[in-house]
Amino acid sequence: MGYLKQHPDKDGYFGEFGGAFLPPQLESQFADINRAYLTLGRSADFLNELRYIRKHYQGRPTPVYYAHNLSREAGAHIYLKREDLNHTGAHKLNHCMAEALLAKHMGKTKLIAETGAGQHGVALATAAAYFGMACEIHMGEIDIAKESPNVTRMKLLGAEVVPVSFGGRSLKEAVDSAFESYLGQADTALFAIGSVVGPHPFPLMVRDFQSVIGTEAREQFIEMVGELPDQVGACVGGGSNAMGLFSAFLDDEGVGLNGIEPLGRGTALGEHSATMTFGKPGMIHGFKCLLLSDDDGNPAPVHSIASGLDYPGVGPEHSFLKTEGKVSYHAISDDETLAAFYKLSRLEGIIPALESAHAVAWAIKHGQANPGQTILINLSGRGDKDIDYVTETFGFEAKA
Ligand SMILES: *Cc1c(COP(=O)(O)O)cnc(C)c1O
Repeated sequence: MGYLKQHPDKDGYFGEFGGAFLPPQLESQFADINRAYLTLGRSADFLNELRYIRKHYQGRPTPVYYAHNLSREAGAHIYLKREDLNHTGAHKLNHCMAEALLAKHMGKTKLIAETGAGQHGVALATAAAYFGMACEIHMGEIDIAKESPNVTRMKLLGAEVVPVSFGGRSLKEAVDSAFESYLGQADTALFAIGSVVGPHPFPLMVRDFQSVIGTEAREQFIEMVGELPDQVGACVGGGSNAMGLFSAFLDDEGVGLNGIEPLGRGTALGEHSATMTFGKPGMIHGFKCLLLSDDDGNPAPVHSIASGLDYPGVGPEHSFLKTEGKVSYHAISDDETLAAFYKLSRLEGIIPALESAHAVAWAIKHGQANPGQTILINLSGRGDKDIDYVTETFGFEAKA
């Protein structure tokens, strides 16, 4: 039996990680979502409608592109899975359209979510518009200031954006705030989690909805190159784009899987968001995972130049894959990320999201150390949302 069929178990555990630790008033709601996903969500009608949406609305399949100039410079063969070309400019629409479709099948009329960089909020607001549903998005004030084009987009799409002004005013607090609001309206709304995190069944469901990335990319890569890649890599915030890509390769013995996480400004707690490198088992937002925590076990403050990656927890499946040694995790700094952001823009005419630039930076580094290898990277999103922040803060070129 293949890996995907064996994990998670029926209670949503990947080894010791995962599960569903819910307030009593939400237990039956999550049981409903689980039941709906395992029946409706895997029915032929559901999958046919999803296939139609992906092809005619999202513009899938997205291409795999051989980054010829970047490859020449790195001394290895770097291929990019172009999720930046997915409608709304990132991979998140893959699971948002599916979550909204599930909500529709369940008779819900509203979608609620948190957002970090704003990409999940935009994707969910897009899905809500497509299905004619109401949409409420919670977002930290720091992220609102940094990612204002996405705030404008969400409002244009008809979503209500709720600013979150407590604590670190970022992704973690946005999740708390969205959860709180959902508690009061769980009968009519679906809480559409933005990554492979949260209580069961979300890590399973979001992985399955994102697996289209890996399924397409594996086939496209074999068609282009004639064999499997030596290495596969993706950035890890919560871990959805990475799980989507990895899912197709987990039974391929010879393929190295690599998750790339943010080292931010350095190794001190609070300066990075490198959960896999520095985290310990803990609990956040209703599930067990590796966690960056303070001395009391509470989630620690985190930093990354990429808003979509600054979360103190990580998906339970990544926590499991790391402890099992099936995936290698690497931490890439803000500076290395910026250098890759400029480099991909100049060399290939592709401006990557700062999140995705972490994976590109790792590919360059790995390629330089392992000349001639083939490396398939998920370019999870486009960088339009980041250009004002980057150029106003750092200018138009990498520092020497
Ligand atoms: C949100 C986001 C990420 C991080 O989320 P994952 O769940 O780890 O994939 C990465 N890249 C982009 C472009 C994003 O918008």
